[in-house]
Amino acid sequence: MPRRPPGRTSLAVMCGIVGYAGYRPALDVVMDGLSRLEYRGYDSAGIAVVADGKLAWTKRAGKLANLTAALAERPPLVGTVGVGHTRWATHGPPTDPNAHPHTDCTDHLAVVHNGIIENFATLRAELKDQGHHLTSDTDTELVAHLLEEEMATVPDGPGTGLPRPGALATAMRTVCQRLQGAFTLVAVDVRDPEAVVGARRN
Ligand code: GLU
Repeated sequence: MPRRPPGRTSLAVMCGIVGYAGYRPALDVVMDGLSRLEYRGYDSAGIAVVADGKLAWTKRAGKLANLTAALAERPPLVGTVGVGHTRWATHGPPTDPNAHPHTDCTDHLAVVHNGIIENFATLRAELKDQGHHLTSDTDTELVAHLLEEEMATVPDGPGTGLPRPGALATAMRTVCQRLQGAFTLVAVDVRDPEAVVGARRN
């Protein structure tokens, strides 16, 4: 999705994916979107929200009710930018760690994904060799770490100490060139806090 111009709100609902950047609490918007996607079937669900330079997320295997219960037991996910996901497992069983969103080693960014990344084995071996800490069995998590690598190469914007605006979209474009398969990906990053970036192939 494009960056949000002043006064505008973006909401995208894809198969099993909801992304929101606006002025309402992202938790409410994303959970409402996920409940509307329930009819499609899924085995796990999760949500990540960006707020005050930090990423917060919760994810659970099983029905959305499990996620709702987990959210009730933790401090509220406060923020107006977020992503949510309902999963149909292809890589790894339906467990809490395999549920989406997936994060990078630095917990700066979160990724949700529908589809399959076919060159999973090669990318996983490469990322492990580079020292990335992989915490799930999924193909999706690889994208979080590939984005981490890309974001590390982006120069800071003038005087901000943060990657320049649009960095996440650029990183996503570069990472997609390395992926084989058919997929939809959506990512948020605390260093590009108003952007929800989506990419789709086939
Ligand atoms: N391949 C991913 C996984 O196994 C995404 C599956 C989906 O489309 O929900 O987590």
